[in-house]
Amino acid sequence: MRITIFGSGYVGLVTGACLADVGHDVICVDVDSDKIARLKNGQVPIHEPGLETLIQHNLAEGRLRFTTDAAAAVDFGLLQFIAVGTPPDEDGSADLQYVLNVARTIGMNMKDYKIVINKSTVPVGTADKVQAAIAETLAGRGAELAFDVCSNPEFLKEGAAIEDFSKGSRVVVGTDSERVKRAMRECYAPYSRLQDKLIFMDVRSAELTKYAANAMLATKISFINEIAHLAERMGADIEQVRHGIGSDPRIGYHFIYPGCGYGGSCFPKDVQALSRTARSLGHESALLEAVETVNHRQKGQLFNKVSNAFDHDLKGKTIAIWGLAFKPNTDDMREAPSRTLMEALWEAGAKVQAYDPEASDECHRIYGQRDDLRLCQHRNEALEGADALVICTEWKAFRAMDFEALRETLASPVLVDGRNLFDPDIVKAAGLRYYAVGRGDSV
Ligand code: NAD
Repeated sequence: MRITIFGSGYVGLVTGACLADVGHDVICVDVDSDKIARLKNGQVPIHEPGLETLIQHNLAEGRLRFTTDAAAAVDFGLLQFIAVGTPPDEDGSADLQYVLNVARTIGMNMKDYKIVINKSTVPVGTADKVQAAIAETLAGRGAELAFDVCSNPEFLKEGAAIEDFSKGSRVVVGTDSERVKRAMRECYAPYSRLQDKLIFMDVRSAELTKYAANAMLATKISFINEIAHLAERMGADIEQVRHGIGSDPRIGYHFIYPGCGYGGSCFPKDVQALSRTARSLGHESALLEAVETVNHRQKGQLFNKVSNAFDHDLKGKTIAIWGLAFKPNTDDMREAPSRTLMEALWEAGAKVQAYDPEASDECHRIYGQRDDLRLCQHRNEALEGADALVICTEWKAFRAMDFEALRETLASPVLVDGRNLFDPDIVKAAGLRYYAVGRGDSV
């Protein structure tokens, strides 16, 4: 099939590369000409395991192309995927300007029937707005052309995006058109495993499914963090509690890891957007608002723990941070807990020495050159002259640690572990002051 994908970010690139890899002809279009120039040379601007190889291979095979020429891209594909950003507006609701710009671009340039597929995460009712934007643009140019709009929300996780796209648990398609259903079956047919997992529903239900899924996962995280908070105050160990509850199949182990709060480009904005939509419909969603409040508080916990460990005097202290990305296997720092921590440390007069296997460039892009931030090439370099170590991201390479050496390197032997990577008894036996999440140490 000939497929056009608007937006060459995490979702657009993974979708484009995966669909090209199974034999479709794909054009990815973006407004960012630097990004497109790099992609044409096989340089991938984001870190996503396996993506660069997949893109280079399919570029070489001629099944994947990149362009900034939106008119040619619209003309190319029967399927027009929209995978552009939907960042939060000032009031937290989803900003649809990029999605609607693409809709107008399609309306402006289409010459025959198109199926417009929205993959961006958008509020319920957006498909109607996309439909109206295309219809208005077509009317403006006096064209009478048929088209369909459907919803196909994306559920991939950064860090495992290719695996998730190709072997996901489901493909949700919101449409009531038989023609669209046939086309979407054909699009996903090469993924035989996904064929059985196509779930057709009406457009509004598909749009809500994406928000409901993310809100559910965020709720699980805030739930366990809330219990971790209680465990800390009660002298209980949340890791033992997690095992105790996760073994119940009705609860399960997924997404009940206590930590320093959820971040990334999806959960924070999607929970917020759903909650704002609820409010605009006259419903105060007490649950979603609590999920956000708990997460906000949790992101502040790392700083509170460091601050308490130094009697609230961090002026002149140097804090080592391991892990800047919002989760392992990505360089994405959007809404990362590390940012909340660094900004609070700077406010308190401390310096940061940070190491992340992938996100240093991104950190430099966000914060630029500053005297109170040193980005390190190696995890041990971040420890040089530091008073304490804080772990923000559970990269695999952080799991093995020589605690004796750490105690000798740190000026004050303080280890704050935002991901509960270690056995408290072993860490404490090495002479470190260990502050994890919900493990009976309320500092
Ligand atoms: P992103 O910010 O990484 O990429 C968006 C891209 O769209 C950018 O490269 C931007 O230049 C481009 N763009 C903007 N306007 C354009 C236009 N008119 N024409 C062509 N390109 C244009 O975004 P992302 O993380 O890929 O997310 C895209 C959507 O998918 C969002 O709605 C997001 O919520 C959703 N989503 C993201 C993930 C994820 O893990 N990142 C997972 C599922 C769903």
